[in-house]
Amino acid sequence: MRIDRADVIVTSPGRNFVTLRITTGDGVVGYGDATLNGRELSVAAYLRDHVVPLLIGRDAHRIEDTWQYLYRGGYWRRGPVTMAAIAAVDTALWDIKAKVAGLPLYQLLGGASRDRCLVYGHASGRGIPELTDSIREHLDLGFRAIRVQTGVPGLDSVYGVATSSAAAVGGSARYDYEPARRAALPAEETWDTRAYLRHVPSVFEAVRHEFGPELILLHDAHHRLTPIQAARLGKSLEPYDLFWLEDVTPAENPEGLRLVREHTTTPLAIGEVFNTVWDYQTLIREQLIDYVRSPVTHAGGITGVRRIIDYAAMYQVKSGMHGPTDVSPIGLAAGVHLGLAVHNFGIQEYMLHSAETMAVFGPTFIFDDGGLRPGEEPGLGIHFDEELAARYPYEPAYLPTNRLRDGTVHDW
Ligand SMILES: [Mg+2]
Repeated sequence: MRIDRADVIVTSPGRNFVTLRITTGDGVVGYGDATLNGRELSVAAYLRDHVVPLLIGRDAHRIEDTWQYLYRGGYWRRGPVTMAAIAAVDTALWDIKAKVAGLPLYQLLGGASRDRCLVYGHASGRGIPELTDSIREHLDLGFRAIRVQTGVPGLDSVYGVATSSAAAVGGSARYDYEPARRAALPAEETWDTRAYLRHVPSVFEAVRHEFGPELILLHDAHHRLTPIQAARLGKSLEPYDLFWLEDVTPAENPEGLRLVREHTTTPLAIGEVFNTVWDYQTLIREQLIDYVRSPVTHAGGITGVRRIIDYAAMYQVKSGMHGPTDVSPIGLAAGVHLGLAVHNFGIQEYMLHSAETMAVFGPTFIFDDGGLRPGEEPGLGIHFDEELAARYPYEPAYLPTNRLRDGTVHDW
């Protein structure tokens, strides 16, 4: 079963997405997600210029061989652009293989290990009343696990908080948060770590007081803290029983997590910007984290992320795949198939896509009972509408940047 063609489709139904479509000689079509938020066209070019020409004529069934060929054969290993491109090829080939087998993809990965993948939604508010409303809205939608992000007194716009200027620019619904903004230049935000560390524990105290001990709560510090600041945050949140505290320090220095771990029993999740199992080697082997965050889209596809999750399983570390709106419904569908199949699934992030996005991608996954199920169609369960996609051309959009009050560039 030879690959006959491969096409890169860039579409922007509310936000930018890069999709790879692979077609075999006998007309089987598979889809992969190659979206890299704010750097979309780099992956599109990498695929078009350097990967698509290598795929034509290859046996579509040889997924592992193709993965190794693109990973090792490129010489320049790892990196977000390379691994997103490999992810798209890998995901599309798994989609094809499952369609040919006449089975939903999770069946080829070992079959279902659970009924559904528990997901968490994003609640946020500038103050407690907005946050409480937002949590209630998510509970009404059926979420059983909630990420809580809060405004910080004195800061105009804070990562993860809707109804701030960030949400207003995107024109989103009241409690939707879309960090990438359509503009020629990235927005600049101001950050104050001391103000954040002082404020966050009081917010979790209020949320626990209002919603009780059962509700699953998570929080994302978005790489902004030093190890000792992260340790303090983890310790100060222990009374509120978080499911996890995410990205407490910049992820590229795994040794920083040792210090955090020595000081707190709050579970830690990290890795949404990681690309391979190698990035996790120290963190998993030394049991410095509890959840691995890489999504299928950014870490080499089903093949790459399965390697990470299987390695994590040896140390009782679980999956917690990244699921922001910039992971397209194709990437999310792939994550749900994989999450349904692996034993050490933890939770799946689920930031609802816009109606325009859902119309373009036509995913079959189903959200109910607090979780996602992939559906029973052969393959990934994607019905991509190319005519509709063509109506939404690419628009430049960037994630914001961050500066401290004195103007110093800080991690966003
Ligand atoms: Mg995050």
